Amino acid sequence: MASHQERASFELLLEISRELASSLDLGTVLARVLFLSTRNVGAERGSLIALDETGEPIEAAIVIEDAIHRPTVAEMREVLEYGLAGWVAAHRQPALIGDTSKDERWVQRADDRAETNRRKSAICVPLLAQDQLVGVLTLVHAKPGFFTPDHLRLLQTIADLASLAIRNAQLFHSVQAAQQRYRDLFDDSIDPILITTLEGTIIEANRQASTVSGHALPHLVGQSLDVFHPADWEVVRNYLTQGESFQPVTYQGTARRRDGREFPVEVYVRRVVLQGETYLQWTLRDISERKALDALREDLAAMIYHDLRSPLANIISSLDILNSLLPLENMPALKPVFQIAMRSTDRLQRLISSLLDINRLEAGQPITNRKPVHPLALVQEAREAVQPMVEGKQQTLIVELPQSLPVVWVDGEMIRRVLINLLENAIKYTPTNGTLHVGGSAQGEFVELWVQDNGPGIDPAYHELIFEKFSRVQGERFPRGLGLGLAFCRLAVQAHGGKIWVESETGKGSRFIFTLPVYRETQST
Ligand code: ADP
Repeated sequence: MASHQERASFELLLEISRELASSLDLGTVLARVLFLSTRNVGAERGSLIALDETGEPIEAAIVIEDAIHRPTVAEMREVLEYGLAGWVAAHRQPALIGDTSKDERWVQRADDRAETNRRKSAICVPLLAQDQLVGVLTLVHAKPGFFTPDHLRLLQTIADLASLAIRNAQLFHSVQAAQQRYRDLFDDSIDPILITTLEGTIIEANRQASTVSGHALPHLVGQSLDVFHPADWEVVRNYLTQGESFQPVTYQGTARRRDGREFPVEVYVRRVVLQGETYLQWTLRDISERKALDALREDLAAMIYHDLRSPLANIISSLDILNSLLPLENMPALKPVFQIAMRSTDRLQRLISSLLDINRLEAGQPITNRKPVHPLALVQEAREAVQPMVEGKQQTLIVELPQSLPVVWVDGEMIRRVLINLLENAIKYTPTNGTLHVGGSAQGEFVELWVQDNGPGIDPAYHELIFEKFSRVQGERFPRGLGLGLAFCRLAVQAHGGKIWVESETGKGSRFIFTLPVYRETQST
């Protein structure tokens, strides 16, 4: 027959099991387990500290004469670093101390010192879950020799039960935290995000989707995505057939508010797997402002070049007439002034021609004015055009072009402007005293030309973007510009069947490279 003692222990364990199952809140679990253990054993005080995977205390309870306290993290660390609990945590072994005054593992606490009787007994066990230390349980009794090996066994059983509960609470806590993080990210996104089935039925939407669409969240769920955005299913189906790509597919479309108003959106669609099922995640970015700005810029550009063209042509012809009428060689004061006027009008004309070319080339018009041209001639002309700028910044421009390069098949005037653009950028973005190189080599059917500077370089993240219209790398150290130069260069080079790209690292200068087709005898103008 079980002794009274055994029955009491058994009941205690049962009660603790029930308590452990009743809550997933770690603080509550610890406090209840500790409270039952101290009361049942008749201990004067006790502590139960839970640890995370790295051994850091995350939660604890202390019971002193039937009152429960929740210590601070600093207090928990102190308990763990010194004394008995620290020893047990480090050795992962239980300890039973009959007389605390005779055991060096026992460290007097500040509040103990006031007590007359410094001789106590203590018992301490590690809480292990799947070999991981998840906590330490300590009980202290006012009398020495109070605890027996039976107590130790009982406490170890309690510890085993509690460690599983702590582990569960830890896991529950981290799952909950992850879920909350995901929910917050989802809801805080400034873009509407919707999750749909593969057929387009909305199963979830974030707050912004509801705000922007004007539909209440419960109204959106269960509806077809069409109520907010008529999807481009062709693009999406194509994306879905591309295997396991987790890169989103993107396209531009429209979104419709509840009141019927529409706005342009950039749509990112991604396949997501939730609980084994495949869904689509749609992020709709409002691009009305971007579109309006682009339209404004286009209008502005159109206006500038149409309204500037004829007055500029007048200035140029007037300068030509002056040039032929005035004996400039005999007028040293006038000559440099005249040269400045000529150079500035040249620049303006180049800018306007490039703006016009952008429009033409974007519309897909082919290059009609092709001729066989030697790359060296192109480079020399470009060099002459930028020489005053180079001198103005005390820079050095080195041309390393082999004479033997084959002749290329190009619109010489246009490619000269490409080179001038690249050179002007190199000069503009490179500090005073910098060095610029222009070089080239034959690469089969193409000639490769490059312009290199030792300026600030370009972050790889921008290597594609800088060739887009109006795109500029933001930064105080960069001079102002329209962001059209490289867009023109790319359109011009591509229209010739060539490629243009940049090789650069921040702080290490940039090298812009482009290719031009080699002239073949059989080609005709
Ligand atoms: P813009 O010079 O008018 O801004 P571009 O299209 O010529 O327009 O150039 C786009 C952007 O590329 C520039 O704003 C600048 O940030 C970057 N860039 C171009 N050339 C260089 C260069 N040689 N070194 C560093 N940055 C450059």
